Amino acid sequence: MSHIRKIAVFTSGGDSPGMNAAIRAVVRTCAYLQVDCIGIFRGYQGMIEGDFMPMDARSVNNIINKGGTMLKSARSDEFRTKAGRKKAYEQLQANEIDAFVVIGGDGSFTGAIKFSEEYHVPFIGIPGTIDNDIWGTQLTVGYLTALNTVVDAIDKIRDTASSHHRLFFVEVMGRDVGHIALNTGIGAGAEEILIPEEDLGLERLLDSLKRSKARGKSSSIVVVAEGDRTTGKNVYELKEYVEENLPIYDVRVCVLGHMQRGGSPSCTDRVIASRMGVKAVEWLLEGRTNFMTGINENIIIATPISEAIKGKTKLDKELIRISDILTV
Ligand code: ATP
Repeated sequence: MSHIRKIAVFTSGGDSPGMNAAIRAVVRTCAYLQVDCIGIFRGYQGMIEGDFMPMDARSVNNIINKGGTMLKSARSDEFRTKAGRKKAYEQLQANEIDAFVVIGGDGSFTGAIKFSEEYHVPFIGIPGTIDNDIWGTQLTVGYLTALNTVVDAIDKIRDTASSHHRLFFVEVMGRDVGHIALNTGIGAGAEEILIPEEDLGLERLLDSLKRSKARGKSSSIVVVAEGDRTTGKNVYELKEYVEENLPIYDVRVCVLGHMQRGGSPSCTDRVIASRMGVKAVEWLLEGRTNFMTGINENIIIATPISEAIKGKTKLDKELIRISDILTV
C-alpha cells in the first residue's frame, strides 16, 4: 500500500505541444487509481504562491488536442532561492500533497532535484520540450509536432523563394542542439543546414551556394539552428555576408520563433505524453522517485533525473551524411 494519497502536477519552463495530453494522463491515472490530484498553475511560481486547483477526470476534458498548457507555465527566479523553495514546501504541506509530477525541461528537473534534496518530496519528471535535448529519452513531448510545424513553414517559404529565385536563411529553435534543424532541413530539402554540433565554416557555405546556383536551382533554403555559431555569425549577419560575397543571390531571413512551440500536438506526441503520464503516477505509487520517463525503442524507460540533466541526446551523424548526399 502506497502512502501517497495526493499527487500534484504542473508544467514548467518553455511549453511544448503535448503537455496537455501529459497533464490529462496524470489526472486520469490518479482518478483511475483513486488518488487525489491537484493542478498547480504557473510551475514553481504557482507552487510558491499556492496557485492550486483540485482536478478530477472531467477537469481535463477536451484538452488532448490543444497546444500550450492548460496549467500555464512560468520561469521562477524565486524558486532558485532557498527561501522560495521553503515557501513552496509549506504550500505543499498545507495542501497535504505527498508527491508531484513535473512536466518540463532540464532546468525544471534541476529545480525538482534541489527541492527533493531539501524536503524529500517524491517526484517524477516528464520531458516536455520541443528541442529533444534531454538525455535518457529518444523523444521529448512536443518535438515531433515541432518538426511538422517547421517543415510546413519551410514548404511555404520555398514557394515564395522559388517564385523570386531567392535564398532564404530560416532560423529554427535549438539553443544547444541541432535536432530540429537537421531533421527539418532534410525533411524540407534544404541546401545547407547549420547546427551547433558541426562546423560548416563560411567558405564551405559559399562554395555550396555557388554550386547550387551553377546547377540551376531556382531557390535555396539554408536552415540555421538558433544556437549555431559555427560560422561565427547569426542569421542576419549571414545574410549580409552572403550578399557581399555572392551578389548573385537575393537573400532573405525568416526567423520562425515561437510558432514552433504552438499548434495541436501530433498523434505520436499525444500517445507518448499519455504513456508517460500514466507511468509517472504508477511509479510514484510503486515508491519510485527522482526518475524521468523516457522512450527508447518504443518502450517507456526510467532514467534517474540526476543522469538526465547531465547529458544531451547526441545528434545522429548519419543524418549529416545523408543531407550532404541529397543536396547534390
Ligand atoms: P526549456 O527547455 O524550455 O528551457 P526548462 O525546464 O529547462 O525548459 P528553465 O527556465 O531552465 O526551463 O527552468 C524552469 C524553472 O526551473 C526555472 O524558472 C526555475 O524556477 C527552476 N530551476 C531551474 N534551475 C534551477 C536551479 N538550479 N535551482 C532551483 N530551481 C531551478
